[in-house]
Amino acid sequence: MKGIDYKVDVFTGIRPTQGLTIANVIGSVHTIVTLQREKEAGRPMVFVADLHSLTDGTPQDTQKHILDIVKDYIALGLDPKGCDIFVQSQLIEEIAELNIYLSRLVTISELLRVPTLKEKIKKDMDVSNASVLLAMYPIMMASDILLQKSKYVPVGDDQVAHVEIARDLARKFNKIFGETIPVPNVLSLGKPARIKSLSGGGKMSKSNPTGAIVLDDDISISLSKIKRAQTAFAGEMTDSLDSLLKIGKFVSNTEEIRHIDEIMVKHMNGENVMGELKGVINTSLERYLREFQVKKSKILDTEIEEVIKNGGEVAKRNAKETIQEIRKAMGLKYI
Ligand code: ATP
Ligand code: MG
Repeated sequence: MKGIDYKVDVFTGIRPTQGLTIANVIGSVHTIVTLQREKEAGRPMVFVADLHSLTDGTPQDTQKHILDIVKDYIALGLDPKGCDIFVQSQLIEEIAELNIYLSRLVTISELLRVPTLKEKIKKDMDVSNASVLLAMYPIMMASDILLQKSKYVPVGDDQVAHVEIARDLARKFNKIFGETIPVPNVLSLGKPARIKSLSGGGKMSKSNPTGAIVLDDDISISLSKIKRAQTAFAGEMTDSLDSLLKIGKFVSNTEEIRHIDEIMVKHMNGENVMGELKGVINTSLERYLREFQVKKSKILDTEIEEVIKNGGEVAKRNAKETIQEIRKAMGLKYI
């Protein structure tokens, strides 16, 4: 049907709240890097979600991290020549406009049932101090995805519900106003990952660095976090140990992975081998982080500014076209 083709095969974003964690890499960045490398992603699009960060930080804080996050993606293997990278606020007009239209299609109680918001309200805030922008997070995320007419959105487990909302909004819009917005899909290589915080509690997050392996940190800090990480009693398996293994295997080569598997056989047979496991993981992690940091240090700010300028032009063009079609479908005559 005319106007309903996808524009972008793979679309993903990250908030410039703090430096990236290894969980962001495993849950999200790695997927897009792999797809690009295997030439399965068409021309992927990646954006830095600075408007989403306004829910947590000051505008100054978020702007500070933008170049840094793009450098992270590139140092982690994303080839800037084979994708489009932009900053969310480059599309402020189109996003703000689509937010209005989509907001009409969601009820307040639906937003309050979104798991991420529910979790936040339970943990560190309540409805009296949670901002409307925070509640609108899934709507704005839908605007990001739908403006680019994205086909696949690689996300970690925590964001699957948000992509579901984007799908639902596209379907609702199309039902009311006619087929205009193609429905996006969740994409993960295997089951969406959910890496736990190393210090227990919830998931590993940029905004909670205590239990996180932060890629830019002094490497000794990360190694000592692994040494202190929660695991499991001999013979037992826990979510914490599972997350530690996911991290360990992610940064390891084939031989090291085999070693990890051997140690785990001993562990499941009741031997006390968690110290040995952490030693192996730390050897791999140290190398991984060192290689990343060296690669990142060679990327220039000017290079990134250029990438963002070019990517922003592509994303703006897509967003303008989509918003025109949406206005037309809705019959808005005076814009
Ligand atoms: P913040 O604390 O600022 O929300 P975050 O670590 O949750 O930071 P986001 O920018 O919200 O990171 O999410 C970026 C991507 O990383 C998303 O695709 C998300 O699903 C993924 N991700 C975040 N945390 C994890 C985790 N613990 N395990 C797997 N994937 C994750
Ligand atoms: Mg998050």
